[in-house]
Amino acid sequence: MQELKIIKSTTLKDKPEQVGDFGTIFTDHMFVLDYEEGKGWHNPVIEPYQPMLVDPASAILHYGQGIFEGMKAYKTNDGLVQLFRPRDNFLRLNRSAERLCIPQIDVDFVLECLNKLIELESEWIPTKEGTSLYIRPYIVATESFLGVRPSHKYKLFIILSPVGAYYPEGLKPVKILVEDKFVRAVAGGLGEAKTMANYAASLLAAQEAKSKGFSQVLWLDGVNLKYVEEVGTMNIFFKINGEIITPALNGSILPGITRDSVIKVLKSWGLTVNERKISIDEVVEAFDNELLEEAFGTGTAAVISPVGILQYKDKKMELKDFESDSIAHKLYDFITKLQYGKENDTFDWIKSLS
Ligand SMILES: *Cc1c(COP(=O)(O)O)cnc(C)c1O
Repeated sequence: MQELKIIKSTTLKDKPEQVGDFGTIFTDHMFVLDYEEGKGWHNPVIEPYQPMLVDPASAILHYGQGIFEGMKAYKTNDGLVQLFRPRDNFLRLNRSAERLCIPQIDVDFVLECLNKLIELESEWIPTKEGTSLYIRPYIVATESFLGVRPSHKYKLFIILSPVGAYYPEGLKPVKILVEDKFVRAVAGGLGEAKTMANYAASLLAAQEAKSKGFSQVLWLDGVNLKYVEEVGTMNIFFKINGEIITPALNGSILPGITRDSVIKVLKSWGLTVNERKISIDEVVEAFDNELLEEAFGTGTAAVISPVGILQYKDKKMELKDFESDSIAHKLYDFITKLQYGKENDTFDWIKSLS
């Protein structure tokens, strides 16, 4: 690989006092890496954040050959910059790449470039409690042609966006609608890849749920609409009669890094997590028998998102008041403390910027 080139912006933006809506403000610089068949990945550069020229025939615009990641950089009280399991995000990017016929990246090299980018932009990392710098790596097919086959050219970008605290007033339970008409993914499809197409498939259901006052949908399996899969941008956990359950990774569920972290943290606390099939009927039955103790989503954005109301068809399941001794609450406290450097990292998940 060639050496990373850094072109500094000559007109730095004003940093906002308050970060606005999620993902609306971007820093001064971005990372770009090109790919061309025969040449491989080349031309790594950190350059001013700017609009790009796109050929109207670019493959990504027509057939959606693209993948992305989402992760965060946190600033500790001592001013250290920390990433949470960043290598796992880029390993997952490579797994998504395989499914979408996109060439593999050199994870170590791209991680090095990310560190340099964050170092350059470190003043953009907000410091207020719960805030962070959201990191969006993505790869798009850039060859200009209308035939249907994998592109011969790609671009990898990393852009950065300061984001506010997800829960400025403490953990807040969300209202979730169990989707009983649309499906997100099927086994053998794209469900386990982090690709734009899965989000395109999800928009209509999410829009209808929002118009009914829900914040997200809970997806059921794409064949029988029977087994629980995941929430819009989160994996899902239940606690039923003491048993902690999350749907097993079956090919149509996104393998969340927060999901994996939650399983490992719970195990370290001596609790078992059963990764298995769980039908929506089992959840409803548990609720009816007053055995549904907790339900919560897991994902980078919110870390832990307790479910307050789960509605399936006409059945409105209101979960008990979210107690501070709930598993969801303990997990949230523990993982966010790790991320902000307030907890001893026995898992080796934290990567500090040198
Ligand atoms: C990114 C994502 C998640 C959560 O993954 P994390 O690695 O925990 O952030 C869950 N579901 C979907 C569909 C996603 O795209």
